[in-house]
Amino acid sequence: MFCDKCGSILVPGPDGFVCIKCGAKGSDVELGEEAGSGKEVHMVRDEGDETLPKTEVECPKCDNNEAYFYVKQTRSADESPTAFYTCTKCGHKWRDYD
Ligand SMILES: [Zn+2]
Ligand SMILES: [Zn+2]
Repeated sequence: MFCDKCGSILVPGPDGFVCIKCGAKGSDVELGEEAGSGKEVHMVRDEGDETLPKTEVECPKCDNNEAYFYVKQTRSADESPTAFYTCTKCGHKWRDYD
């Protein structure tokens, strides 16, 4: 990108692009840092099992071998996360220990 006034190269500054020679601002130039920032997307992964991925695992209660699952960090961070399963057939919930 180049300066409208003197044709020199524009460099990124705190308020957008600025000409390295005359200091003019590239008015219609955006840095593209504002888009996507400031908004946090929260992943809710507790209930609503229907949206969870399925996996092939045997239900301890019925003969079904498919269950929704999600992984949750249960206690301290240095412990391995626990996998939780919900049977797609009978709705039985259990967790997977190593
Ligand atoms: Zn300039
Ligand atoms: Zn089941």
